Amino acid sequence: MFPSLLPTYNRADVAFVRGEGPYVFAEDGRRYLDFGAGVAVNSLGHAHPRLVAALTEQAGRIWHTSNLYRIPGQEKLADLLVRHTFADTMFFGNSGAEALECAIKMARRYHYANGHPERFHIITFEGAFHGRTLATIAAGGQAKYLEGFGPKAPGFDQVPFGDLKAVKDAIGPETAALLIEPVQGEGGLRAAAPEYLRALRKLCDENGLLLIFDEVQCGVGRTGKLFAHEHAGITPDIMAIAKGIGGGFPMGACLATAEAAKAMVAGTHGSTFGGNPLAMAVGHAVLETVTAPGFLGHIEQVGNYLRQQLAGLIAEHPTVFSELRGQGLMLGLKLAVPNGDFVNRLREHAMLAIPAGDNVVRLLPPLIIDESHVREAMAALGETAKAFENATEAA
Ligand SMILES: *Cc1c(COP(=O)(O)O)cnc(C)c1O
Repeated sequence: MFPSLLPTYNRADVAFVRGEGPYVFAEDGRRYLDFGAGVAVNSLGHAHPRLVAALTEQAGRIWHTSNLYRIPGQEKLADLLVRHTFADTMFFGNSGAEALECAIKMARRYHYANGHPERFHIITFEGAFHGRTLATIAAGGQAKYLEGFGPKAPGFDQVPFGDLKAVKDAIGPETAALLIEPVQGEGGLRAAAPEYLRALRKLCDENGLLLIFDEVQCGVGRTGKLFAHEHAGITPDIMAIAKGIGGGFPMGACLATAEAAKAMVAGTHGSTFGGNPLAMAVGHAVLETVTAPGFLGHIEQVGNYLRQQLAGLIAEHPTVFSELRGQGLMLGLKLAVPNGDFVNRLREHAMLAIPAGDNVVRLLPPLIIDESHVREAMAALGETAKAFENATEAA
């Protein structure tokens, strides 16, 4: 019999029914240290009192009206994001892929409005992940996500990540924009060098291209800055965010400068649920918390402690771990053993982490963790590494 749920996921046989801070509890009551945070979504951990209050208070007022009317929560969150970023304006959707769809449409529409409808190509980077819609799988360019879904949506030209000459060579009369994750998540925690991002900014300026950052995973405090591109000291024209901004409530946004957004006039884009009052209430509470004095500093501090501890772990278990990547609380361990097996074993030691491409295990803990949680994680990672070492010796 076909399962009642479409079997598109390889799910682990465990269900979490409750969460508290950086912990989740399974049906059998077992407690797990959550260093996956729902793939960088539960930015403030589970059941954060401030988010619970924001959501329940809004739930008692009004859930949904429609973008046919003003939505005060959208205006409030947009104003706060404008205050803290390069952006002048934004569109709210429900997911990362939708935020990227808006970014892609905006970039094309910008050149169309400038009298260049032929400029609709977007240069993307190998190892990218931008979502699972037809346009975003074309942007991501990964064969495994494109196979069997008809012709790849046109207008995406892919170049190797970190290669500047390849980008220059790929720019042509049809190019509209560059789209890059400042830190690749699914692709294996590869961070673009600050000089590389600055060079891309310069290339865009010289060629009249828009620079689009996908900060769906690396944004909202994850790397120790509010947005990862701040480490490079430059700004994009358009930026997609999602995951962490909702803290677990589905939402996304496409932020832009007034210039980049100038052609997105009434009727050019829309969403039924996007910017729903419930999502806006939670998003505002998340952003206020992350931008409160000291919060980003805490991420940097605990992130440095985690890095330092992980470096020690790698030195202790060189046959299991080979490399440490990432920044802040977006860290990756490249493994010398299969990452999927490692994550499964780690779960037996009551800790969650997330596999990524390039045989990396991602550590994306809630941003609220402290050094005691790091020590707990190190114990679970160390025990798991030993299990692999013992298995090798026995073989
Ligand atoms: C998760 C992710 C997306 C897609 O977000 P969805 O909410 O799953 O549509 C896009 N880009 C990056 C970098 C991501 O990590």
